[in-house]
Amino acid sequence: MKRILVTGGAGFIGSHLCERLLDYGNEVICLDNFFTGSKINVSHLSERQGFTLMECDITERPDIECEEIYNLACPASPLHYRNNGIITIKTAVIGAINTLELAKTNNARILQASTSEIYGDPQVHPQNESYWGNVNTLGPRSCYDEGKRCAETLFMNYHTEEKVRIKIIRIFNTYGPRMSTNDGRVVSNFIVQALRGDNITIFGDGNITRSFQYVDDLIDGIIRMMQTPDDFIGPVNIGNPEEIKIIDLAKKIIEMTGSSSRIVYLPIFEDDPRRRQPDITLAEKVLGWSPVINLNDGLIKTIDYFKKALTFD
Ligand code: NAD
Ligand code: UDP
Repeated sequence: MKRILVTGGAGFIGSHLCERLLDYGNEVICLDNFFTGSKINVSHLSERQGFTLMECDITERPDIECEEIYNLACPASPLHYRNNGIITIKTAVIGAINTLELAKTNNARILQASTSEIYGDPQVHPQNESYWGNVNTLGPRSCYDEGKRCAETLFMNYHTEEKVRIKIIRIFNTYGPRMSTNDGRVVSNFIVQALRGDNITIFGDGNITRSFQYVDDLIDGIIRMMQTPDDFIGPVNIGNPEEIKIIDLAKKIIEMTGSSSRIVYLPIFEDDPRRRQPDITLAEKVLGWSPVINLNDGLIKTIDYFKKALTFD
């Protein structure tokens, strides 16, 4: 049993991580400022032994005793970070410094939730960890992409200069229950639109691709990464290589929900990456990890969740 800090713990991924860590018998401190997350995501954990919810902004240095830190605090949906650039880059960069300082003080292991966005609009396909990426420093996604790239750099510098025990994972598009209904990312948007009978909004011509992993697979990969020996720091891609065009995702969700929604095509957003697919050779080799939940099965679970969530909206 360890005392573990999860920043961004009341968010979509964070809430699943807190739950799994509690299930494994740990004490969990869930730190969040509820910028995009919500107390409701962790309300079912509030009565569980060992769970503490702490309202705190990670850009203000917290003082917490812990043995492990998972740093997830950061707006993650383009809808949110496009409109909140300064908040996003401050959270990514100052949040990384504050959590790394905390790790140093506590001699704690610390894992950074980095992202496939550090590859930008990739010129290499699929993306493996040795690719340096193709990111516009000035574009509408740069607050997030460059914030996360800088956070990786900070992690590496704290490791080499301060001997902090770090781990870096690069998470590819993840979906599942507890995404908020107004999250803005494509899987939740399409499901909510389909269930409400609203138009399905495709930005661009629908030929852009992504590779979607179900949240339970990701949590498994994150925890395996934290358990690797100190001399393995990553970065490691965690994602599902099952690549799909956005138009095919829309059709699949319409069919699975039995929806009468129409597909509408809207202008593409600047710098939207054209293709994305993880090369997970390293995760398979070092973590013994690969995803086990395919897109159809994951979508069934996620659609079920949103059917219930929308009745309370
Ligand atoms: P989310 O928006 O649901 O969760 C982010 C959480 O961080 C929210 O609870 C939010 O309130 C909190 N937060 C934001 N700023 C904060 C601050 N300054 N101080 C404290 N808390 C703050 O998004 P998510 O999808 O759960 O993403 C979690 C992490 O995983 C993020 O770091 C994101 O960059 C990373 N990630 C997610 C994906 C994905 O597909 N979901 C892909 C790559 C990386
Ligand atoms: N997208 C879309 N309609 C939506 C939301 C997103 O067509 O309602 C597209 C978006 O332009 C991008 C892809 O789906 O090409 C994935 O978008 P998302 O915001 O989920 O993730 P990210 O761009 O961060 O990978």
